[in-house]
Amino acid sequence: MIGVTVLGATGSIGVSTLDVLRRHPERYRVAALTANRDVDGLFAQCREFHPGYAVMADPAAARALETKLKAAGLPTRALAGPAGLEQVAALGEADFVMAAIVGAAGLLPALAAVRAGKRVLLANKEALVLSGGLFMAEAQQHGARILPIDSEHNAVFQCMPPSLADGLDQAGVRRILLTASGGPFRQKTLDQLADVTPDQACAHPNWAMGRKISVDSATMMNKGLEVIEACWLFQARPEQIGVVVHPQSVIHSMVEYVDGSVLAQLGQPDMRTPIAHALGWPERTESGVRPLDLFEVARLDFEPPDLTRFPCLELAYRAIEAGGSAPAVLNAANEVAVEAFLEQRLPFLRIAQIIEETLNRVAPMAIDDLEQTLEADRVARETAHQALARRD
Ligand code: NDP
Repeated sequence: MIGVTVLGATGSIGVSTLDVLRRHPERYRVAALTANRDVDGLFAQCREFHPGYAVMADPAAARALETKLKAAGLPTRALAGPAGLEQVAALGEADFVMAAIVGAAGLLPALAAVRAGKRVLLANKEALVLSGGLFMAEAQQHGARILPIDSEHNAVFQCMPPSLADGLDQAGVRRILLTASGGPFRQKTLDQLADVTPDQACAHPNWAMGRKISVDSATMMNKGLEVIEACWLFQARPEQIGVVVHPQSVIHSMVEYVDGSVLAQLGQPDMRTPIAHALGWPERTESGVRPLDLFEVARLDFEPPDLTRFPCLELAYRAIEAGGSAPAVLNAANEVAVEAFLEQRLPFLRIAQIIEETLNRVAPMAIDDLEQTLEADRVARETAHQALARRD
């Protein structure tokens, strides 16, 4: 039996992960589950999967969960806060850790899993954007295997040769092509984008996702974060990564080789495919995903991204090229701006402006350790909040 900890179990990726695990009770055992405040959601999952531990990041929520677990006579132990998250990420009973907490809050638990040498199924792309160099170095040092869950990176991983030890050039890879659906606003004009609402931004045409990543998808910052993520995962230079808008979301990404071959991974837009792939790797396992019917798909379209309407993508390239703390600053400013947009304190088009202003104000610094990363994150958040206050 393989023990699995699911960080962010009550979220969109967490629920899909548990759906795949549910299909293979003979192979996987749930070691621990975590959430932030959704006590009822985590309690219901504890009742079904009987994990050894359940963690609520919020201490009051953890107390409420503990009361419910005791009243129901369940053996699961409730833990609280960041220490609890890190504890279950490094748990001896967990062989695999699904890192699916949203945002920078996911970094330390994911890093704890890496330092414990786990197989880390990495959905939390912000961890790599914030701290890619450190994260990858620690993985190497501790023998942790990082398998990408983001559908694009999982697709790229599937199209890559088995070893990338000597880099993309040695492997004959010319370019990585990340596909982008274009999000819910692909066909909207700049004028129309001025007054779109959070609910419109979260109504993604192809994927059902959490609210933060849905807004990232609407601004195309999601693709920008993915470019940075791909640089770290595949040792790529930014200019080796291209973005192709592909509205059907059937091709999940591609790898172009020097001989002219382009390998693509296709499938339904359903996260259970990359989740099952990473759980089963190097074997294949049933995911519950409906087979792809190419006659139903019928056509595949491709277009270049429009950086005038979606400037976040360019800001992300700028940040990874600047290096050092710049990606962490980009990520923090984006989290602050997206939260303000979701709370209807900021118009959609200002999201990119807040991020750009923050990048302009916080000079990039070299990053050598975790403390410097967290400090860059803190300064950027403060600067982004100041920028928000000026615009309110
Ligand atoms: P959701 O918002 O649906 O879920 C987030 C999860 O994290 C929930 O379990 C939530 O708990 C928990 N959480 C939120 N804040 C904290 C915190 N401060 N401390 C601890 N736990 C917290 O997000 P998604 O599932 O959509 O996304 C998760 C990650 O996966 C993101 O990094 C996203 O970019 C990435 N990803 C998601 C995809 C998708 O299809 N959804 C696709 C590719 C990548 P609670 O329920 O209690 O709030």
